[in-house]
Amino acid sequence: MRLPFRLDARDPGSRARAATLSTAHGPVSTPVFMAVGTRATVTGLDPSDLAALGAPVVLGNTYHLMLRPGPEAFSRVGGIHRFMGYSGPVLTDSGGYQIFSLAGDRSLTEEGALFRSYVDGRRQLLSPERSIEIQTAIGSDIMMVLDECIDSTSTEAATRAAMERTHRWALRSLAARRDPAQALFAIVQGGIVPELRRESAAFLTEHPFDGFAIGGLAVGDTRAAREDVTRASAELLPEDRPRYLMGVGTPPDLLQAILAGVDMFDCVLPTHLAWQGTAFTSTGRVKVTRGSCATADMALDAACTCPTCPRFSRAYLHHLFKCSEPLGPRLLSLHNLHHYFSLMREARQAILEGRFAAYARAKLDAIDRHEHSGRRLGPAPSLSELG
Ligand SMILES: [Zn+2]
Repeated sequence: MRLPFRLDARDPGSRARAATLSTAHGPVSTPVFMAVGTRATVTGLDPSDLAALGAPVVLGNTYHLMLRPGPEAFSRVGGIHRFMGYSGPVLTDSGGYQIFSLAGDRSLTEEGALFRSYVDGRRQLLSPERSIEIQTAIGSDIMMVLDECIDSTSTEAATRAAMERTHRWALRSLAARRDPAQALFAIVQGGIVPELRRESAAFLTEHPFDGFAIGGLAVGDTRAAREDVTRASAELLPEDRPRYLMGVGTPPDLLQAILAGVDMFDCVLPTHLAWQGTAFTSTGRVKVTRGSCATADMALDAACTCPTCPRFSRAYLHHLFKCSEPLGPRLLSLHNLHHYFSLMREARQAILEGRFAAYARAKLDAIDRHEHSGRRLGPAPSLSELG
């Protein structure tokens, strides 16, 4: 049984589409931004906060969860939903990206990735089969295949080798899946080489995966390269299955990818920046730790209806951050996630009404204007730094 996926509308002026996935824990309307809850928590928020925000999907991470609390802990309680007290859809990343970016003392072979646990120093093997076994214990609604990520500035030969291994691992993952109620997505690789991306999409779409992700971006590539690869990759993926752009990005990145026909997103940026005191607002980014916020008896974003903006001033948020009070990052996380979810809801509405291309153009222009209006805060940290 394949993950039920219904196309609700196509935008006449772009490749954007609105769709509905039906997971074992409820329907998901796309375009969708998934909140990153790496260690079975969206840091600082509890599931009632997520419900209040209308968070559609929470994303957990196999690499971190296999090390702590370990798959046995999930098996004992019957899965992540009960474990974290959350009843909505969960997607788990396979751990491929973390093996590439975080694991110490690792060696990669055809069998899998051998590395040392940061929890107890023990050697661990993450193979495609082991990743599926762990994701089965976690009980996620959507599982990802283990892939081999490499820097997008690698040589073409190295990029090809990683892509071909990713293909072999994808088929091993498919063979290892036991419960078809848990959807399984493949990951298109191939760096920033168009021919390799084509080859990867052609190979993977021959097999019965429930959806397809575009992986290996935001690891050393430029924004222009990322947009080109996203556009080219999305075009190669079947109409009747969801398309997921992994680990990207800023609101403009999301709008560009929706224009290209991408349905699903995740990124640590809104929550990570919230913990650093930076908010996305309708008039550009605001860093609440700046001195100018100390006496600002005004909302973070006057146009925002999140749980934070109508109740607390910039001056209060500034104060919380200056005192290192945990309420500060929590209030900013609520706001930033609300900002991303609102963007997705607006995008979906615009697609349903057949006006997404114009909506996206106006939104991108406005964001660009705010970013260049003198309040620019410098470049965002690179995504590979955010892990
Ligand atoms: Zn707000």
